[in-house]
Amino acid sequence: MAKTYMVGNWKMNQGLQDLKSFFAELSAKNLPEGNFWIAPQAIQIQKAIELSLGSSVKIGSQNCSNENFGAFTGEINTTSLKEIGAHFTIIGHSERRAIFNESDELINSKVQKALNDSLTPIFCFGETLEQREAGKTLDIVLGQIKAGLVNIKIENADQLILAYEPVWAIGTGKTATPDQAEEVHAAIRSLLKELYGDLGADLSILYGGSVKPANVLELLSKPNINGGLVGGASLKAEDFAALCSATL
Ligand code: PEP
Repeated sequence: MAKTYMVGNWKMNQGLQDLKSFFAELSAKNLPEGNFWIAPQAIQIQKAIELSLGSSVKIGSQNCSNENFGAFTGEINTTSLKEIGAHFTIIGHSERRAIFNESDELINSKVQKALNDSLTPIFCFGETLEQREAGKTLDIVLGQIKAGLVNIKIENADQLILAYEPVWAIGTGKTATPDQAEEVHAAIRSLLKELYGDLGADLSILYGGSVKPANVLELLSKPNINGGLVGGASLKAEDFAALCSATL
């Protein structure tokens, strides 16, 4: 059975003081064990790892390089992320695709690199509003998945997490309805079974796009929605704790 995750993507938000207050408030909430992950800004990953020690929260990055060491100014490699205790990396977020022009090929090589260094990739994809309105949602989403997973081999379902994030729902306050999301998640599940056989049934497919405490339970009630990738609502400890509790 697929595990359920709650993952916070903090983007370029949260200063050092915010980070400290967040973990102090979260620790006062005594979250039970669960798959609760946070990706802060790269510069704060190490501090976040220190502050989350002893809790069930795991820390990762919002991006990584497909290269190892070398002349790649400004990049962050998976070897160094692993070395400091990072657990996962988000790859192919729509902001990386749209603002930083990341291609399916580059994303595919990042997924491979993360896997090689035992960092769990959270591989993201999703359609724009224009693509949805043109009736192309499944073509786009399944196409991005096939391209992003070319030659990606896994041995167990903990090695790879997928995140369906309709671009029109990210940071807009517009959430896909649970039925709209489940329709896409069910199609993703079928593709994963084609690609990975029985393992495909156990891979977690997160939904992202304006998830908040008020809508999370309804989304998680759908059979193929195995958690959330959350931006805005993950920034406050109280809301993040509520989102995490909804997975239990
Ligand atoms: C995201 O950035 O991945 C996201 C889903 O953001 P928000 O929850 O703010 O829509």
